Amino acid sequence: MLDDMFDYIENIRERPVWQPIPEIARKATREKLPHQPSDLASVHQAFMDTILPYSAGNVHPGFMGWVQGGGTPVGMLAEMVSAGLNANLGGRDQMPIEIERQVAGWMRDLFGFPKEATGVFVTGTSMANLIGVLVARTAACGIAVRRTGVNPQERRLVSYASAGAHSSISQALEIAGFGSTSLRLIPMNERFEMDLCALERAIENDRREGFEPFLVLGTAGSVDVGAIDDLSGIADIAAREELWFHVDGAFGALAMLASDIAPRLAGIERADSLAFDFHKWGQVPYDAGFALVRDGALHRRTFASSSPYLARANRAMNAGSPWPCDFGPDLSRSFRALKTWFTFKVYGSDRIGAAISRTCSLAQYMRQTIEANPELELRAPVALNIVCFRFRVDDGGEAIALPGASYSDSVNSEICALVQESGIAAPSTTLIRGRLAIRAAIVNHRTASRDIDALLAAVVQFGRSRVALLRKTS
Ligand SMILES: *Cc1c(COP(=O)(O)O)cnc(C)c1O
Repeated sequence: MLDDMFDYIENIRERPVWQPIPEIARKATREKLPHQPSDLASVHQAFMDTILPYSAGNVHPGFMGWVQGGGTPVGMLAEMVSAGLNANLGGRDQMPIEIERQVAGWMRDLFGFPKEATGVFVTGTSMANLIGVLVARTAACGIAVRRTGVNPQERRLVSYASAGAHSSISQALEIAGFGSTSLRLIPMNERFEMDLCALERAIENDRREGFEPFLVLGTAGSVDVGAIDDLSGIADIAAREELWFHVDGAFGALAMLASDIAPRLAGIERADSLAFDFHKWGQVPYDAGFALVRDGALHRRTFASSSPYLARANRAMNAGSPWPCDFGPDLSRSFRALKTWFTFKVYGSDRIGAAISRTCSLAQYMRQTIEANPELELRAPVALNIVCFRFRVDDGGEAIALPGASYSDSVNSEICALVQESGIAAPSTTLIRGRLAIRAAIVNHRTASRDIDALLAAVVQFGRSRVALLRKTS
């Protein structure tokens, strides 16, 4: 099984990035609960035949559709030993929790947080954003909110994020009981960063109308275009207005490891809470999200509860309090820290940082190639590792007498699907200022300039044939 996985990773370029699941494979896995045992070898063979070839393909260097990491062989081996150990990191006095504390310590140092800051592994940034919002809620409402819940009739608490913020932020406000309408989406400037004048105006308006601003969420690396909000500017406003300052740095925060990009994250060290993923730019296998909170005591008060079966002591297995289960909603937890610890120790943080820099250089190479090609058009500035562009079809749109915008959008959406189905590359689409764009997020350490060339060549090829076909049929 190990050999097969090493072969898979080593020869990944020979495979299509993604391929449609044949009906036969889907059918083969629809069976009744197996009451009887089977040979491990035969189950492994079923995995090789029906599962391995049909995953989304984020190990592949041509995968650029969404912000997803590529993993490493070291991470895979760490997952193997971790599964063998089968540690439950909810609590107890055990060395695996010391490793989680060690990673938290590294992150505290990396982001310039004080020693009272606490960190906890979670599934991903969606959960880490929720943790940030919940600790902010405790800061605003006191610990009593855990019993009473938020009462919107009593206090109209509101928060702020950029219009380009990830959807998990509005979801976090829904789950935390504030409702997503309490989140004010602040317009972006021409670089797709939160417009801080608009933020100040919104806070002022809200206060005038009897709302209580309590939280501002900055984004370090926006999901659509990779924009970094002015974190220092937001920190100033948060300090002046006495707001909790949370940063969603899902992928962007780890650019702190890249000396050429780190200065652009200035202000991140002033966040009250920070959410990010090791499984994106950190190349740690899924899943490995992380929440870091400046005020560790407040973090603990937000989640810790006492129950006789989770009693603490200063001897035997109940020692070592506080436990990770005191810092989030999870009790049973896997040893996510181990694959992260292995990744940092084996590769070193400089090398991870260099891979991050390289994906940003590739994005600049892609931008230049697009700008030099009259058939392609850039749709957003390239600040980090994400490139939004499209195949130009506006002239054809007029000729075919379809509404220009939707025609160009539907052709580009079609091109994206054709490229995915070809297996050459995996881009995705998003809306940039209301218009559809093809989006390439370069996250995988395996991606090289030839993968960028292959994606762009495929877009042009499918674009031309698509437009020619539409002209003929109209
Ligand atoms: C990926 C991403 C998230 C969500 O993180 P998950 O790990 O997928 O839960 C949140 N915000 C941004 C900016 C992201 O890129």
